[in-house]
Amino acid sequence: MNFIPYGKQSIDDDDIKAVSEILRSDYLTTGPKVEEFENVICEFTDAKYTVAVSNGTAALHLASLVLLNPNDKVLTTPNSFLATANSIKYVGAIPIFVDICEDGNIDLDLCEEYLKNDHTIKALYVVHFSGNPINQQKLKYLKEKYNIKILEDCAHSLGASFDGIKAGSCANSDCSILSFHPVKHITTGEGGAITTNSYEIYQRLLKLRSHGMERKSEIAPWYYEMNELGFNYRITDFQCALGISQFKKFDNFVRRRKELAFNYTKAFENSIIKPLYPYTENSSYHLFVVRVDFSKTTINKKELFIKIKELGIGLQLHYIPINKQPFYKSLGYGNEHTPVMNKYYEECFSLPLYPDLSDEEQIYVIKCLLEVLYV
Ligand SMILES: *Cc1c(COP(=O)(O)O)cnc(C)c1O
Repeated sequence: MNFIPYGKQSIDDDDIKAVSEILRSDYLTTGPKVEEFENVICEFTDAKYTVAVSNGTAALHLASLVLLNPNDKVLTTPNSFLATANSIKYVGAIPIFVDICEDGNIDLDLCEEYLKNDHTIKALYVVHFSGNPINQQKLKYLKEKYNIKILEDCAHSLGASFDGIKAGSCANSDCSILSFHPVKHITTGEGGAITTNSYEIYQRLLKLRSHGMERKSEIAPWYYEMNELGFNYRITDFQCALGISQFKKFDNFVRRRKELAFNYTKAFENSIIKPLYPYTENSSYHLFVVRVDFSKTTINKKELFIKIKELGIGLQLHYIPINKQPFYKSLGYGNEHTPVMNKYYEECFSLPLYPDLSDEEQIYVIKCLLEVLYV
């Protein structure tokens, strides 16, 4: 058996053909495929506008430029990839790390406590962690009651929905961001996107993606103007061709992820391995996270990772609390009252989960885990 990683892409001959066609065409970048890809994302998420960019972190940076001002306070989760909080820092705003719920998502009731006590808080950045969608009614309530900006980091949750509200639709938020890194639901190599229902935000994102430049051919054929400092966060046409081709297989991808998640949930019933939340059709299962109380085992988490790797299986950990990173500690973070996150971090790890993981491989993963944990 080959090494089983915790996540990886599925690429088939149709994907390769789609990319090859662009490599033989006139436009490698900023050609027709970018808008076509953006339209596919709009259709898929129900959002009005999409701006595709070079990666998910660039998407977070541009969204933060549009939503935040320097020194704005922003509620966010310690349980995410670094980029979520970093994007708040990029624009000189101030992340405030709020504890999570037992399901790994930010605790929105606690967020309300913060909002009640501090009327200067301007925004809330949420992550639908592992693909498990956050309560949209609560987002709507907080947005309306406290008049805050909301960003949904949907890097995990393409294909997830809550009460029929799709991740990325921005039904109760100002912007959502997506990532198309190879471990995510679909890939463009590197890649990302911002979705929004606001025409003004959309127009500004388009400019910021390309240096803050605006062509004004009505003034002169060569004329362009820059009114704001932007970046080169463009995505290429061959990446977008890959993205379009990948979306055609999305339903199969997510069906297989759910099947594998269901199998894991069943296999660990009555065992020491506790899935982060009961199996749910609402989650699009980017990750399958489990918790183990290591005080009840003879090995610790580090030994588990090492032994499982020797058996040819890659585990991962999502995530080390962002507020405990040396960079954030150096800024005075790290001692927030986040007891749920701290305990979660002690116990959690993520199992292999990707569409091409075979039944045979999954059975092997389950067998190895149970054997190593019950020595
Ligand atoms: C992957 C990821 C990102 C960053 O996306 P990149 O495309 O790797 O830059 C941001 N937030 C979360 C929650 C992610 O998982």
